[in-house]
Amino acid sequence: MTDVYLDFNATAPVRPQAATAIARALEIGGNASSVHRRGRMARRTVEDAREQVAGLVGGVPGHVVLTSGGTEANNLVLRGLGRRQVIISAVEHDSVLSARSDPKIITVDRRGIVDVAALDEMLFTVDTPTVVSIMLANNETGVIQPIAELAEVARRHGALFHTDAVQAAGKLPINAAELGVDFLTLSGHKVGGPQGVGALVVLNDTELLPQLRGGGQERSRRAGTENIPGIAGFGAAAEIAANEASNQSHLTKLRDGLEDRITAIAPGARVYGEDAQRIGNTSCMGMPGVDAETQVMALDLAGVMVSAGAACSSGTVQNSHVLAAMGIETAEAKCAIRVSLGWSTVAEDVDKFVDAWLEIFGRLTGQTANAA
Ligand code: PLP
Repeated sequence: MTDVYLDFNATAPVRPQAATAIARALEIGGNASSVHRRGRMARRTVEDAREQVAGLVGGVPGHVVLTSGGTEANNLVLRGLGRRQVIISAVEHDSVLSARSDPKIITVDRRGIVDVAALDEMLFTVDTPTVVSIMLANNETGVIQPIAELAEVARRHGALFHTDAVQAAGKLPINAAELGVDFLTLSGHKVGGPQGVGALVVLNDTELLPQLRGGGQERSRRAGTENIPGIAGFGAAAEIAANEASNQSHLTKLRDGLEDRITAIAPGARVYGEDAQRIGNTSCMGMPGVDAETQVMALDLAGVMVSAGAACSSGTVQNSHVLAAMGIETAEAKCAIRVSLGWSTVAEDVDKFVDAWLEIFGRLTGQTANAA
């Protein structure tokens, strides 16, 4: 039985080109701070990758601070800006939600979108220096936020703006400067690089206090010997993902076909965020009356790997704060799974998922699917 992997938003399989870059970097074996030949080769590897990562967001290599991942990048910006008031949306990833103890939360509408006017209003009530952090695309639903407009509002109020672009990178063409953001977060393993590497792109010269101290690496913004193999793999994956970002229509077509087939056939099946603009690889869908954990296990037995809509880092399923913010009742939200496609997905994968989902639907709900 061939396994079908449709959990790219949790992590994307490592692209072969990234694996090759990792293997080459492992062979170098030098420290990028050493002045000898191997050290210089390691330094070159880091700087080449920095350029590739910058290319993913139309950016300048000198703006890229390499980190251990998206979580660290989010913490670096939200904690590193010191005592500024933080405003975040209600649908952020945990690494933004938990970075600071005192964020002001801006709500989303039923489609999952932040209201630009509500941010404007909130900023009128804050009289301290502020940083606004709103994600570009949501990890559970794929819903895209109007970042350029939100960043413009923040700028008008003199607030800094950060966007977590971890799930959007490689799925949408991104130009950080055109978006008007001051900071942007990326993660290697969501674009087909290895886990444990990411970046904060810094377009603003405001002082950012390092969260890891003890060395001058990354222009003193992030101490610690560079993870050369991880960085090399991230760079290789970023370069390919940048080229793919403007041509995601095949994945969008597969995702839309998947949703159309299921909602046409299964009474009560629901797609969350479908009325909003979404990245083309993500579908968050509910099977009425069957909790997500049961669906994920049954699909796994059928050889199809997906996540519960609200799978958290510990692997347990929690109530989805994203669906709750969109006004979905807890009992319904518990039945949502997330299907996410990516660079290696083919039509047969989607067919296998749909067949398995419909079989499970019939078996566990006792309902017969409508004739297609
Ligand atoms: N931000 C978003 C939107 C994510 O989906 C994730 C990972 O799931 C992260 C941040 C964290 O990235 P990392 O796993 O590289 O720490």
